[in-house]
Amino acid sequence: MRKLDRLPLSKDAQSRLESRTKQIREAASDHEDDEQRFLVQKKEAQRLWAQENTVAFLEIEMVLKRMAPDEGRCMYCQYNEGSAIDHFWPLAVFPVRAYDWHNYLWSCSVCNSNYKGDRFPRDRNGYPLLLDPTVDEPRDHLYPAPSTGQVRPRTCKGAKSIRTLGLNRGMLCKDRKAAWDTAQKVVELYARYCAEGNGDGAGACKSDLQRHPLSSGLRDLLGILKTPGAKHFIGPRCLAALRDHPEIEQWVQPAGQEAASQPTLAVDARNATR
Ligand SMILES: [Zn+2]
Repeated sequence: MRKLDRLPLSKDAQSRLESRTKQIREAASDHEDDEQRFLVQKKEAQRLWAQENTVAFLEIEMVLKRMAPDEGRCMYCQYNEGSAIDHFWPLAVFPVRAYDWHNYLWSCSVCNSNYKGDRFPRDRNGYPLLLDPTVDEPRDHLYPAPSTGQVRPRTCKGAKSIRTLGLNRGMLCKDRKAAWDTAQKVVELYARYCAEGNGDGAGACKSDLQRHPLSSGLRDLLGILKTPGAKHFIGPRCLAALRDHPEIEQWVQPAGQEAASQPTLAVDARNATR
């Protein structure tokens, strides 16, 4: 998971959301009992959401995809293609936030349906114990374990997020491990091409490292590079290449500015000589 910037919505879309929220609140305005009011709001929010098919939502999905890693991947796991809006504060538990732009994330069906669902751990003060990548800096709560492809928690919020979202499920760990290993080899190859004066080869390496999934592997590499234990996780050739080529650090781009197409590995890093 990585930090993402929330982009603004048009006034029309924002006003559509506000009118829906008003509708949900007004549906329960006659009820003074808290539980009854909640049940009516929930029913109304579920009814509206089930039939939601407006132009405003085409725009909302488009903006969410632009905010997402690689223009459309899941904001939680970062590897699967996103397919639907996730209510960070679940609709069934917090119906008045069903139409809150700041409550929308773009999620894959596995993270959304198989893991998070209506689960929403909170601390004793009611604050979420779940990472929102548009609010939290995930690196403050999670760190990569390159040898296994797992992510490890730094905080209680990180630990709850790993558990609730299934961030260490098998396929994700395999993908992360592959991205980590291949990114190292492509970094080494970049340094070799530079030394040989092969500009095209070096350019192809740069392009590959800026695309999914190697961009995630590179991000992890750079995160570990400045830690005291870097030499235990990063191979010596890759370590030397990263230190000799500080320009590589500039290649990590914010979401929304990555190459949108699939990687076209101009070099087969698996065959690269070490
Ligand atoms: Zn996902």
